[in-house]
This record gives sequence, structure tokens and C-alpha cells, in this order.
Amino acid sequence: MLTNKFFLIMSLIVLVAAACSPLSGGQNGTINVIASTTLIADTVQRVAGDRVNASIIYPAGTDPHSFEPRPQDAAAIADADIVFINGLGLEENLEGLLGNARLVVEVSEGITALEGEQGHDAEDEHAEEDADEEEHEGLDPHVWQDPNNVIIWTNNIAATLAEKDPANSTEYRANADAYIAELQALDSWIVEQVQQIPEDRRLLVTDHETFAYFAERYGFEMVGAVIPGVSTGSGVSAQELAAIENEIRSLGVPAVFVGNTVPGNIAAQVAADTGIQVMPLYTDSLTEAGGPASTYLEFMRYNVSAIVDALK
Ligand SMILES: [Zn+2]
Repeated sequence: MLTNKFFLIMSLIVLVAAACSPLSGGQNGTINVIASTTLIADTVQRVAGDRVNASIIYPAGTDPHSFEPRPQDAAAIADADIVFINGLGLEENLEGLLGNARLVVEVSEGITALEGEQGHDAEDEHAEEDADEEEHEGLDPHVWQDPNNVIIWTNNIAATLAEKDPANSTEYRANADAYIAELQALDSWIVEQVQQIPEDRRLLVTDHETFAYFAERYGFEMVGAVIPGVSTGSGVSAQELAAIENEIRSLGVPAVFVGNTVPGNIAAQVAADTGIQVMPLYTDSLTEAGGPASTYLEFMRYNVSAIVDALK
């Protein structure tokens, strides 16, 4: 570890020394890449192979919506050759730092974004006043719940790496194409799995509104979210809780799905009040390496299997 740290410090010194010359990308064999989320880092790794070691801002299992950047995040962002972010408002808490980055790439560029039911800043009392200033206000950032959107991420990442490191562009493209084939196979597998659930039972109640892209692609209805809005910051009033509990009872929804990045206490309350099952899912983050959802492919297979088991 000490040796690693020593080399990290040495390479930072070299980077600072090289800062006045144009960045040469892969000429020295490595590009210093940061990804905001574990999901984006996984995609970068699939495209770049071992040519890039992507560092991650939001550690595995943390909630991106309530994350507060640490001093080392500011330094890492300023030092990176490329910072890959999701966009669509997910990284609002990094806004002050991204201005110091050399290159920020929104991997979701080109995806048709869905409207969030409430603004991402629903907890912010001034959200309405600020709405005009925020380009992405109210859009749903959870695009990765549809593998077809991760195909767009993959293409965007491959194009960026190829531009930064043209000498290895053929390899990035080939890696991207191989991964896209796996994502297409995943999509077909999900379509098949979902057939096991009777159509009138394809109903999702989740903790916050993470599954709109999944619901749209695979024919589910989002009955409601226990925490309203596409962020986790907004609280829930007694009336809102009563309303969703009534809806759960009248529709006969068998389960509420709760992500790994939010506290499950409100969902547990709903489950206790209505007698339905609480099913844990992975929503906004992968697990640590070795966990049950340490890659995007595992993450989606885990979630789909859990949803099918609970609803079929
Ligand atoms: Zn979320």
C-alpha cells in the first residue's frame, strides 16, 4: 500500500509538471479517469480493459443523492484527464468541483430522458424559484435501469477514450462492441423473465423513483414511490404515506422494492402497515467487488430475478 501511495504521489507530481503541455492521453499507457458512480466505472472498465483504472466518487453502497464531497474528491476531479458523469441532475452535489475538471463527459448524452414526477431538488424550498436556472430540473437521472441506455453510455465512453487515446481506439471499439452484445443479451433475457409475471401484476412500488426507465422498457406500472421524487432527499408526509398505503391495498401489490442506498425505515413502515413484503434491490450503486451485484450485468440479473420472484 505504501508503495502504491508513493507511486500515486509521484504520478501526481509528474501530472502537475506536465500540466502546461497538452495531455497526451495514452502515449504513456494510462489515462487518469474518474467516474461519478460505480455503475459508470463498471462501464468504463468494460470499454477500457486494463488500460484505465477508473476511480469512483460515490463509493459502493452510498446514496448519490445525499453524498457530500470530501476534500480528496476535489483534488481527484482536478487531477483527472476525464471525469465521466451520469448527468441529468444526478451529480448536483459535485457541481462546485466539476468546474475545475479538464474534461467532463456526460455519459447519458443522447438518451431520451424521462421527466421525474417531482424535481430532483424537491426537498429544496427554493426549488421552484431556481427551476428556470436548472437545465435538468425535474428529469429522472436513473437511466441505467434500461440496458439500452447503458449501450449509449458504452458508445459515449468508447468515443471519448478513442479521442483521448487514438492509438488504442480500435481496442476500445472492439471492447465496446463485445460489451454491447452482452447488454443486448441481457435485455432479451429480461424480456423473457418478465413473461413469468402476469400482466396485471407488473406493478412496482419502490423507495424513491428509480425504476421509471425499467418500467417503460419492460411494461411495468410504477404504482408509487414511498419517498416521492427522483431524489432521496424529499421527506414523506403522513398524508402521502397514507395515500400510497391505500393504493397498495386497493391494487393488491405484493411487495415494495427498496434500494441498497437508502434507509429502509419508511418502506419497513409501509410493509408493516399493509402486510406486504419488503424486497431489497440494488438501485443507484453496485456492491463492493465480491458482492452479489459487483458488475452491472450482475446488478440487473439480481434485480430482475427478485422482481420476478416477488410478483409472479
Ligand atoms: Zn436515485
